[in-house]
Amino acid sequence: MRKTLWIVLIGWGVLPAGTIGHYRPLPVIRCIHDGGEEWALLRTFETAQGPRALAVDTRRLRTTILGSPNGAGACNPHSRYLRLLRQAGSPPYPLQNDGITRGKHELYLTTDLCPSSKKGFEKRLYEALIRRLSHPVPVTLFITKRWIDNHPAAFETLRQWDLDGSLAITWGNHTAWHHYHPGKPLKENFVLSPEENLTADILELEKTLLQRGIVPSVFFRFPGLVSDEKAVNTVTRLGLIPIGTDAWLAKGQMPKEGSIILVHGNKNEPKGVTIFLKLLEDGKIPALRPIREIDAECGMRNEE
Ligand SMILES: [Zn+2]
Repeated sequence: MRKTLWIVLIGWGVLPAGTIGHYRPLPVIRCIHDGGEEWALLRTFETAQGPRALAVDTRRLRTTILGSPNGAGACNPHSRYLRLLRQAGSPPYPLQNDGITRGKHELYLTTDLCPSSKKGFEKRLYEALIRRLSHPVPVTLFITKRWIDNHPAAFETLRQWDLDGSLAITWGNHTAWHHYHPGKPLKENFVLSPEENLTADILELEKTLLQRGIVPSVFFRFPGLVSDEKAVNTVTRLGLIPIGTDAWLAKGQMPKEGSIILVHGNKNEPKGVTIFLKLLEDGKIPALRPIREIDAECGMRNEE
């Protein structure tokens, strides 16, 4: 009996906003089992309401906040989550676009919110999705703390669309700081910059979301899509799945069946958004799937 009692489900994406203390990853991913369900514990932390854990459903890849994390044991190594995590973290380790770059079926939309000095955001993009597709429209935001801090109103608008069921947002991690040095070679840029502390950069973004009452997902996108083996290992050891793209629209890559589409929601790359809106208008994007439904067996990596 006690085994099920400790699982206090705080909410699917609804968490009281407030301060988060002692936020830490578990040294090894452990799981709790309840009925037929398995939850992998990713982080533990303190709130004014008591100890909490960030956990992911290893079958559906949905994250939630659980109560006091006692009684965790070994995870099923064959769960969809762990298979996808292993697949995303295996060699080769290309400098660009590592991680899962496509699925087999349907289309997945990812919109990056890198730090930007531009005012506002690509409202036209999200409004068109809400106008044309059935609700809630699944969309992944790969978000940064620096963008949130500088765009509080835009962030609030997106969050309201999520809460009112217009959008179903997957809150993806794009690091808190998103280091970037114009003109520097890729090997010393983005998360490969000398000052990078990737673990802190990832955890800080999660805390930023949790403090605003949002549950972060297990999906991660490397800033600039640049990484090396060490960076990929850091991300997957934290239980996050790196997501690349095979349809960066502003670079002329057109979506096909299974594509993970990349556009920028921060106004830094309006060209990609314009292309997306044309595809949407032409009926070329009849529906979107949430990134967590990507097929583990068929999620493919860039082999270049
Ligand atoms: Zn970015």
